[in-house]
Amino acid sequence: MLHGIGFFIESLRDPNLPAPQELVVDESRLHAVANYLDHGLIHERYRGHSWCRVCGNNSELMGSTDLTDGVWLWPAGLSHYLRCHSVGLPEDFIIHALAKPTFTQPARDAVADFGLWIEWSRPRRSQTIRDAISLAQLEDGRLAAIARTERVTANRAKFGQSEATCIRAGCEERALKGMVFCGNHLPEMSSDFAFRSQAHRLLLEALQMPIQ
Ligand SMILES: [Zn+2]
Ligand SMILES: [Zn+2]
Repeated sequence: MLHGIGFFIESLRDPNLPAPQELVVDESRLHAVANYLDHGLIHERYRGHSWCRVCGNNSELMGSTDLTDGVWLWPAGLSHYLRCHSVGLPEDFIIHALAKPTFTQPARDAVADFGLWIEWSRPRRSQTIRDAISLAQLEDGRLAAIARTERVTANRAKFGQSEATCIRAGCEERALKGMVFCGNHLPEMSSDFAFRSQAHRLLLEALQMPIQ
């Protein structure tokens, strides 16, 4: 098992992860630690670059991999947060990194545990940012509900309703014409992604980031 560190809130759905803005420190060892981070071994590759939760940088610099030294696991872009935004990391990791241990490649299927990272960041979290994220979650839910209702109305107008009942268990709505589902239960409605298009903007606003 690897200890995951430096993983930040990605969407309004993972509010357990901290925002980097909450972890800023006055720490002279960050540059040395950032250099250590850059030398990690690749453990996981992703499609597309990560993006900085502080300045919005989404260039190659932010990386598209997770790196490891065999004990800890971090996103490749983490060093940017230390160098450019003075984001701190747990003392256990800093001591480990500055001791320059030999890197070992963990098993391919080794998984990361974020417990230590979440526990370490919890007391450092900002109530102001937490409140802003909670408000953004409420607003996201409200906008998603409106978008969903509009889609149901549009589906009804487009197809019309049949005499049959929707086959979704427990649903008493009438199915759309030529379909077995009502406007609420069409397969396309099960992916709520389409109704969450505002979520990213709302997160950036909560973190007071420039909208890109
Ligand atoms: Zn940045
Ligand atoms: Zn239904």
